[in-house]
Amino acid sequence: MAVDDPAERRDEVQVAVGNGNGVQPSRPAGRPAAAAPPYADRRLRLNPNTEHKPQDYNDVRGEYAPAVYSALERHLPPSLLDADRDVKLRFMRDILARYWPPGERNKVQRHKEYRQRILHLYKPLHEELYNMHPSAFFLPTFLEAVRNNTEESFRSIMTEPVPGVYSFAMLQPPFCEMLLEEVENFEKWVHAMKFKIMRPNTMNKYGAVLDDFGLEAMLNQFMEYFIAPISKVFYPEVGGGTLDSHHAFVVEYGKDRDVDLGFHVDDSEVTLNVCLGKQFSGGELYFRGIRCENHVNSDTQHEEMYDYTHVPGRAVLHHGRHRHGARATSSGLRINLLLWCRSSVFREMKKYQKDFPSWCSECQRENMERQSQCVKATKMAFLRGSGGATI
Ligand SMILES: [Zn+2]
Repeated sequence: MAVDDPAERRDEVQVAVGNGNGVQPSRPAGRPAAAAPPYADRRLRLNPNTEHKPQDYNDVRGEYAPAVYSALERHLPPSLLDADRDVKLRFMRDILARYWPPGERNKVQRHKEYRQRILHLYKPLHEELYNMHPSAFFLPTFLEAVRNNTEESFRSIMTEPVPGVYSFAMLQPPFCEMLLEEVENFEKWVHAMKFKIMRPNTMNKYGAVLDDFGLEAMLNQFMEYFIAPISKVFYPEVGGGTLDSHHAFVVEYGKDRDVDLGFHVDDSEVTLNVCLGKQFSGGELYFRGIRCENHVNSDTQHEEMYDYTHVPGRAVLHHGRHRHGARATSSGLRINLLLWCRSSVFREMKKYQKDFPSWCSECQRENMERQSQCVKATKMAFLRGSGGATI
């Protein structure tokens, strides 16, 4: 079981990353604790001390703007507020380094430069795609459901074939056509320029990252206004209401493209998968139950098995940890739009989670088992205590 992970950001994510051999090593949250800095045991305050006047950090050079330190100073533990500036600075630097080690910062910087190079040189084919035009992009039925913004209105346009998988007609055919042409145009340009592009993730050799050639702002609105309202209702347990970043790309299956996609989970809280076209057969998406990191390789229950056949314009929305894969596209060309939606709040909270995740069916099963053992043991103890009397 692999975690389908954006190739260029492998180390950027804060979650467990699969290594492809079925092992799910948890990424250490910070640097090794070999030389613990002073005040390492102290925590930042959740709410800033607004009355405290931060010191001036304008002369501090480095990865972060001085304003970051000034803002962070208000969150320092009260006992540190009046410490020397150097002490505070060391404390803050250590915290920032834990969240964003230098290797990752360099990677992000390189990716920024890569994007800027493309944006500077690539000329879009359909300018109208780069700004959100709801009525041109979405079907009226979908827009109406989002406008009403209730569970009932969403359910009125959806089917839920297995728990947690929602399917609905979403995109206008001309929008799908335009997006396909834009991707084709981008790929032609890449080929002509002999530009080496980054593929969407570690599992696909073909396809393109839409955020890399100018569509990021539009797709942010796509997520914020048209996916988040739905995921807030259907995926509250994984931060569906606090989605704040995305990774958007197209995947291409068929002759001279990727053939199929192995069994995996996504690096997302919520995934939107929409078929854009064109003509194809095969390529079904198979689902095999939602699992946490500990149970990602556990058996599938019969009732969790579900195969979905793609229809152009139609979307599937699912939990990022819903195990799935794509069967071989046997003929034609199939292109799908993928939007991996993430919640930084959820990822942060997850680090401190002690309880089992409510959304993992294997955790739920184990918990039920434990409870039933506990009830049995209590009953036995009672029977023994009452001398074996019939109850
Ligand atoms: Zn579990």
